[in-house]
Amino acid sequence: MRHRFLSAFRQAFFVGLFCGHFVGTGSTMLTTQQGQNMVSRVIPVDPFDLVIFGGTGDLARRKILPALFRRFCSGQVPSGAQIIGAARAGFSTDGYRDFVAQAIREFSGGRACEDGTLEGFLSCLDYVAIDASGDQGWGDLAARITNDRVRAFYFSVGPRLFGDLAERIHSYGMASAQSRIVVEKPFGHDLDSAIALNKTLAAHFDEGQIYRIDHYLGKETVQNLMAVRFGNMLFEPLWNSQYVDHIQITVAETVGVGGRGDYYDRAGAMRDMMQNHMMQLLCLIAMEPPAKFDPDSVRDEKLKVIRALDSVEPHHIARGQYLAQDGDEFAHPSYREAVGDDRSRTESYIALKTHVSNWRWAGTPFYLRTGKRLKARSSVINVMFKDAPHSIFGEEAGRHANLLSIRLQPNEGITLKVTIKEPGQGGMRLMDVPLDMSFAEALGPDGEDPPDAYERLIMDVIRGNQTLFMRGDEVEAAWAWTDPIIAGWQARGEVPKPYDSGSAGPGDADQLMARDKREWRGINP
Ligand code: NAD
Repeated sequence: MRHRFLSAFRQAFFVGLFCGHFVGTGSTMLTTQQGQNMVSRVIPVDPFDLVIFGGTGDLARRKILPALFRRFCSGQVPSGAQIIGAARAGFSTDGYRDFVAQAIREFSGGRACEDGTLEGFLSCLDYVAIDASGDQGWGDLAARITNDRVRAFYFSVGPRLFGDLAERIHSYGMASAQSRIVVEKPFGHDLDSAIALNKTLAAHFDEGQIYRIDHYLGKETVQNLMAVRFGNMLFEPLWNSQYVDHIQITVAETVGVGGRGDYYDRAGAMRDMMQNHMMQLLCLIAMEPPAKFDPDSVRDEKLKVIRALDSVEPHHIARGQYLAQDGDEFAHPSYREAVGDDRSRTESYIALKTHVSNWRWAGTPFYLRTGKRLKARSSVINVMFKDAPHSIFGEEAGRHANLLSIRLQPNEGITLKVTIKEPGQGGMRLMDVPLDMSFAEALGPDGEDPPDAYERLIMDVIRGNQTLFMRGDEVEAAWAWTDPIIAGWQARGEVPKPYDSGSAGPGDADQLMARDKREWRGINP
């Protein structure tokens, strides 16, 4: 009985929440239907040209091309669209189509290649062998570009080639008011390199034509974060330091550095995750409501958050490196072995505490942590509310505080922990129960298979919507906050603490919390 009540309430609550209204149980069916429509609606786009520089690379194979295929399957990529792979390898058009077909079978997430669908998609594809920093292939590419339509150039190559590509797109007459460029992370290595990169791109393209991808912003739940905050009356009045005790943002991975050791050892968790993905999550949690949901209004507010971030004290930082793991099935090398440097001082884990110094958040700490080879793959934002100021139920009822958990992966969804009376006789005993909404449960089949972040982001490029892309000044502000933190531990000669693979990270991270009489939430799959 109790379970039935909770699950009916839970469904009505969250379905209402996601439709922008809090509704009673009577509307559940209707609003569920609305929810499904909301997820599955496809806004068609006009035929476009998309050139993928690095169209044979790992990112193109695993993410970009499968994402385009899924959009094609859903009817959003019109059949007149042209997708041109451009890379060093000497493929013919047919050879490239075979290569892409293989990638789609491997990485399109089980999306059925129904009769003719894959062939239809492949017929949109073309290929040009190109030298990004020479002249080979450029005339050929320019000849294939269609006039009078959106043309997007995806820079899925190392950042050192960005300037060469931008310059040649221009000099071969492919830059027009309809042109857009998409650039991948890492966007710079520090503030100076980010400024230089921004300048290089700005020499050939306006800011309104530059799409800096942070794929975290394309995740369905991350966008829902804005819907939850700004589509409801329920949370926004409480969304400040008067009611929020603290916020925890965790991005935990079970994988190690894998084949990216060279790159990773020059970056570390601070540059690879904290400066970009985690910073963006923090911005969405902390920003003021923008006047409108348009690109510059949203990005102006995010920028204010980054600029309001306090510098981080050395004792508010914990860094670690994972150790090797034994065992036949799960054996893997330590971080230092993986990167081939037994004296490496690069962190595969970082936790830190920071503050957003403004009226809304003064006094509410933000705790951020990310690491590799941790106990579970889990990205989650926990908003921990304060205890009620006075318990009318007495000491024995214990302490209870609300918690809003926003899960980005796996099992995207949102949980609100509320306090209720324990059912039955025996006085007023309290317990915490989760109001749990997973996309899979509340949104039906569409929720089980939410669009990949790249699907959303690539189509936003084609539509010309920059809301979910980082602006140049945001990236620079994020580096301006990051650089002194890194310079600080380098100057102090700090060595990251070892931590066991499969653990929650180094003990220093727990102490960071314990000093504030708080605890990290568990890292759960
Ligand atoms: P990759 O090494 O697998 O592929 C590189 C691609 O660039 C290949 O297609 C290659 O032919 C092409 N290329 C290299 N030099 C060229 C030249 N001189 N002229 C023309 N083409 C050239 O790299 P990747 O993993 O696909 O990464 C591409 C970019 O995306 C990098 O900037 C990387 O940092 C970024 N990125 C990758 C991932 C990922 O998961 N792979 C994730 C985030 C960001």
